[in-house]
Amino acid sequence: MSGGILLCDPVTAKNTEFAMPASSLCDAHNNCAEKCFKYIKQDDWVTSGKLGSREAVLVFRTNILNPKTRKTLLETTPEQVKLKNVEATSTQSGVVLEKAMSSAICKTNATIGQAYVSVEKSPNSNDLRNPVKKLHGSFSSCDTSVSSDGDETVQYNEKKPRVQQKNRNAAIVEIEVNLNKESGYNSIPATQFNTGSNTSEEDQEASSEEDKECGINMPAHQLQITYKFIQTETKLLRKIFNVHGLTEVQGESNFNLLWTGVHMKLDTLRNLALYQRVNHFPRSYELTRKDRLYKNIERMQHLRGMKHFDIVPQSFILPLESRDLLFAHNKHRGPWIVKPAASSRGRGIFIVNSPDQIPQDEQVLVSKYIVDPLCIDGHKCDLRVYVLVTSFDPLIIYLYEEGIVRLATVRYDRNADNLWNPCMHLCNYSINKYHSDYIRSSDAQDEDVGHKWTLSALLRHLKLQGCDTHLLMLNIEDLIIKAVLACAQTIISACRMFVPNANNCFELYGFDILIDNTLKPWLLEVNLSPSMGVDSPLDTKVKACLVTDLLTCVGIPAFSPEMRSHYNSKSSQIRSSSCHRQVDTTESGIAIRSTKTKKKTFGLIQLTQEEQRILRSARLQYSRRGGFVRIFPTDDTMQRYGHFLDSANGIPISTPNVQGQTFQTLVTQHNYNQMLHSNLYCLGSRSLKDDNCQENRIRQYERALETDSEIPFLKKQIVEKCEEEGRRLRKQLLKKIGSGSTLTHFQARQTFSLYLESVLRRLTQDPKDSHEKIILKFLNRYGGGVKPPVLFRNTLNVSKARSAMVAKLLGDFLELYKRDTEAYVDSFDHFGMIPTSAYSLFLIHAQESDLEAVLTHHTNVTGIMPFLYNRCGLSVPPTPPIPSGLHGFLRALPAMVSASGFSRDVSKYDGYFKSCDKNLEDVHDISLRSRSTRDFK
Ligand code: ADP
Repeated sequence: MSGGILLCDPVTAKNTEFAMPASSLCDAHNNCAEKCFKYIKQDDWVTSGKLGSREAVLVFRTNILNPKTRKTLLETTPEQVKLKNVEATSTQSGVVLEKAMSSAICKTNATIGQAYVSVEKSPNSNDLRNPVKKLHGSFSSCDTSVSSDGDETVQYNEKKPRVQQKNRNAAIVEIEVNLNKESGYNSIPATQFNTGSNTSEEDQEASSEEDKECGINMPAHQLQITYKFIQTETKLLRKIFNVHGLTEVQGESNFNLLWTGVHMKLDTLRNLALYQRVNHFPRSYELTRKDRLYKNIERMQHLRGMKHFDIVPQSFILPLESRDLLFAHNKHRGPWIVKPAASSRGRGIFIVNSPDQIPQDEQVLVSKYIVDPLCIDGHKCDLRVYVLVTSFDPLIIYLYEEGIVRLATVRYDRNADNLWNPCMHLCNYSINKYHSDYIRSSDAQDEDVGHKWTLSALLRHLKLQGCDTHLLMLNIEDLIIKAVLACAQTIISACRMFVPNANNCFELYGFDILIDNTLKPWLLEVNLSPSMGVDSPLDTKVKACLVTDLLTCVGIPAFSPEMRSHYNSKSSQIRSSSCHRQVDTTESGIAIRSTKTKKKTFGLIQLTQEEQRILRSARLQYSRRGGFVRIFPTDDTMQRYGHFLDSANGIPISTPNVQGQTFQTLVTQHNYNQMLHSNLYCLGSRSLKDDNCQENRIRQYERALETDSEIPFLKKQIVEKCEEEGRRLRKQLLKKIGSGSTLTHFQARQTFSLYLESVLRRLTQDPKDSHEKIILKFLNRYGGGVKPPVLFRNTLNVSKARSAMVAKLLGDFLELYKRDTEAYVDSFDHFGMIPTSAYSLFLIHAQESDLEAVLTHHTNVTGIMPFLYNRCGLSVPPTPPIPSGLHGFLRALPAMVSASGFSRDVSKYDGYFKSCDKNLEDVHDISLRSRSTRDFK
């Protein structure tokens, strides 16, 4: 059967399951086909199907982030690659394929824009190794796609390696190697395309204009693919989207990709069209809220036995479980680590020796403190690994091959006297970055330098010391799968209720894992929307690879606007005829499956259309996985985790009463997990070499992440300040304020946050005890969402760690404050207002003293504090006098906040804060005594 050709045209194919019916889409597709030809040269940016087909998705790569290599990438003419490919393939299958290809293209053009050229796999092509992957040292895929009739086939354009090179000859050489080995293109991580270019200089970051210009050449731009952000930090993501030609939309529902930093609104979910993708599943908080996660795992411990789910430190939710905590403490003494239930980045965390040190008035999670953590060179560390779930039913989990190891800045010491020190006991970057000893690696290749390492570097380091890294990584995989299993049931039922199409949702979770000194991994928490912020070249490399691989793997459909409007109207028809989602729809509105009637034979098992779709989709996705390692399902999955799944429907069971009955939402006639596992790993695939076996997975984790072109480090854009200009503008401003102009809320808040940023910079570079105390007093009064990360026990301890803590608190405050400030943006310049453009110029050049002068003068003249209060606020305290001289504004700051604070008293648990209060009475006194109306003019 080797080399046989099948042409699966949607019009003539027996099974139209995966095709779009010609009748309804003819016009749209003719249109689309025309467009296809316009940018067919760029079809290396589309995979899993021909442009215009329903399965075609966009390809994302890191090379294009580098302005030096992007030009080459875009100039490469894939024609030559394509022809070479056809030529070489024809040595196996004669001219038939070439003919088939042109015939398919003709049909595409003339009829409906979608044609599948399928090549039946020869038995010896089962081992589909892709030598290109060797660049990355990665292993290949055994997964091929499944054609519409369920046979295993390789789509024509799947066979074409997506090599984009400066040196075209190099590309051809690779293809030849590829074809000589009879391998098909399966999976090339976004990171490893050999561009043949050497970026020797330091990072080059293109401006966003250049990024957008680059995007114009991309298919995504021509297909008008859009993305939308909601509450998320976006620099890296935005850059990746822009260079790939996606356009940002705001306030619209017609996005292709919605990336949100918060949970999804159910209404948004309900109305998703077939081609839309969102980065969260409903009810993901079952995993990502610390209290929910621990409860779910605890339930599994009761249901399945402690030995299977001993993956989290013993934990209690207070105040509800105070007695249980006491009981546990009497059995095995502390220390205990206390965390707010819904918090992150070390906010509000502290460690105590005994439960009586824990306040009882807030819901917190108290966990056994792991006193013997794995240390690197004496520093405690923990892991952030990235887990992608593309589907909960069937369950498909990937672990990214690279992760990040975070080290504490202060050497670890078990002594209880040090429990107060967050820079010793907490590994969060957001805490340690403020410590003056914190070291950032400045080169992306330095993976084991400073306080942030890569996972692979840690594994190599441990291996050198004779540790069993194989077992460690298997245990980490096990922990991830079990955590997801513990929470899956609720998420599955929410998906059934709210998600209209099977591939609408995907989610990247950040798993925080602590390894103890016996190399046992402990799950600390799962982060919703793990940070994509980058602070070093190493960070940029890992996260850029992660995001590009993620987007390619989940697949953003390369739909034309015509196709989108077609599916939009079909979706709304479906919605109006049924308020519930049909999880099992093959395509909402196109071909509603009939489980009982339409069955296809695949090997020995009958597959429904929906099952064929799932299988095909899983295989295509696997072929695009890049650096993601599928950890569920794997060949050994069913043996190890099968008993956690319901035998009838394959749903993970996490409540005792569900087995075999109840939960209307879970009553199904399918078992997708079973089906997927048997089709991927049993049945006909048994003979396939399993490239996803344990050995290969572990090898992949241990290998350093390689990129063929440097990924520019996205630095903060630093605008050159002109001191003189700042002073000149300040003079003008003070004059204006003196003659009656006032700052808008937005301007005042902008000034205040820039001012505090300068103070923060000083605190980290040149800590001043008195200023730290003032800041603490201010934050203490202000409250809000700013929480102290630890219980400071040693009030006299003036140290780098304490300075880091104060800086961290101020940093947290600033982040929230800036977010709130967005709500005050001036949409237009109104009468009497200092023009936005003039004010922005001032802010660009202003130094700390300029900002302070404007804030002071404005407060003194107007008697209001718009940077802290709305004019009509009820509990606005009287404006305090502001001492003259440098830092006078800072000294008056605590007195500007009413004693009752804004919403939450940050200091109520904190011995350190209380001792500060006394010192700060002096500050208050000074401010009262020395009211100054000094003019800064
Ligand atoms: P957050 O969401 O605020 O980052 P985490 O649960 O990740 O909270 O904990 C923050 C840090 O505290 C981790 O980096 C880890 O070093 C430390 N930590 C958390 N829980 C424990 C524990 N049970 N034992 C030892 N250290 C812990």
